[in-house]
Amino acid sequence: MSEGKVISLTGTRTGSSAPEGSAEAVSRLALPAFEPGWVWLVGAGPGDPGLLTLHALNALQQADVVVYDALVDETVLQFAKPGAKLEYSGKRGGKPSPKQRDISARLVELARKGLRVLRLKGGDPFVFGRGGEEALARVDAGIPFRIVPGVTAGVGGLGYAGIPVTHRDVNHAVTFITGHVAGGAVPEHLDWPSIARGSPVIVLYMALSHLDTIATLLIENGRRADEPVALVRNATLKDQAVLETTLGQAAEDVARTGFKAPAIIVIGDVVKLREGLDWLGALEGRVLNRDPLNLRTKQDAG
Ligand code: SAH
Repeated sequence: MSEGKVISLTGTRTGSSAPEGSAEAVSRLALPAFEPGWVWLVGAGPGDPGLLTLHALNALQQADVVVYDALVDETVLQFAKPGAKLEYSGKRGGKPSPKQRDISARLVELARKGLRVLRLKGGDPFVFGRGGEEALARVDAGIPFRIVPGVTAGVGGLGYAGIPVTHRDVNHAVTFITGHVAGGAVPEHLDWPSIARGSPVIVLYMALSHLDTIATLLIENGRRADEPVALVRNATLKDQAVLETTLGQAAEDVARTGFKAPAIIVIGDVVKLREGLDWLGALEGRVLNRDPLNLRTKQDAG
């Protein structure tokens, strides 16, 4: 066992390793060289390739093998170096997803072959992405690794819908929840009364199929049925779709419109800001409301 082993990152930064053709400014950043036998766990962001970090791009340009999961948009893979092997690790053709343990073992196996292994995950690898489990398997196997955070769907995906995840006049806290636990059940063991009271804004990942139950639990525990809700499907991608509804109506509207996963769901008054901040809608002619929270009207009246 390699318990407690300290892996040194010293000596992994070099400016001379920037791949040919990358912009001069980027090479001046001296992004790290990808050493053979390493695994880099990298967040690819929610989909739009423009949201890749420079570290993610640097990793793609050097990796020998890219093991990517279902939520990584394939356009992102075009940045891989020519000849890099692309391995898909998600669910395919109705088959169950490969077991996490198998994926972790595969990554260790590839690294032991002396390859530069890029593990690419949608969003941020440490946000409901099992990135921690995978990285611990590397620690256990004594494989050196690097973590590259990414833009998570519950923040950046909402930004593309014109919904700030915090806004001073609305909330000073936000709760991120997964609507799915291992095995697919709704996480009923969560402390829903505390969640309902805990913060004015709740962001749900992987929750579409359990939205009915979750909305009911939240309303039973004190949230308003008319509280605004937005669902963003394929956030940041060209086919992004947004459904605005309320907590009481959400499940019915999802069923009626056939709204499909993957979707990020946000509950709370920040959804109202979309009327003012739907910048993608504005590109297509939507007229934005300068006072979506009615604050000026209230001040004038007061
Ligand atoms: N690590 C990822 C989340 C993985 S869990 C992240 O940080 O974003 C998978 C869930 O993330 C999906 O069920 C969905 O709720 C959300 N998600 C990820 N990408 C999305 C996207 N482009 N659009 C909408 N939801 C997305």
